[in-house]
Amino acid sequence: MYVLLGEGGIMDRAEMDKYKKKLLLLKNNILNGGLLKSSEDLHISSDDLPDETDLANNVIQQNVSFSIRSRELRKLRMIEVALQKIEEGTYGLCDDCDEEIEVARLNNQPWANLCIIHAEERERENSKYVKNG
Ligand SMILES: [Zn+2]
Repeated sequence: MYVLLGEGGIMDRAEMDKYKKKLLLLKNNILNGGLLKSSEDLHISSDDLPDETDLANNVIQQNVSFSIRSRELRKLRMIEVALQKIEEGTYGLCDDCDEEIEVARLNNQPWANLCIIHAEERERENSKYVKNG
């Protein structure tokens, strides 16, 4: 199923180039998606708020765009790391166990740096530390 490259590589160059193209495209989408504009667009001018319902909606909206933005930023960082790994020829290996990341997973999330087992483990750990408010 995989093309082994002797020195521990799991895929051939053509395959990596395919993911590289995907990653560059995703990176461009994030950079051009307007999510990384200055934080000014997140400010709410009180003059524009006719009543409290709208205020509440705006705050919710603000939080949503904020969390989308931080998620996109995190994704962007992971994309950068993945691109770096492609250059080094270690793309597609789990950071924790050096096992090959499932192809289906890479197709879904080309920036994935952990196999499904360790990704789920991280997620469980992270959710423990999520603060409320
Ligand atoms: Zn792993």
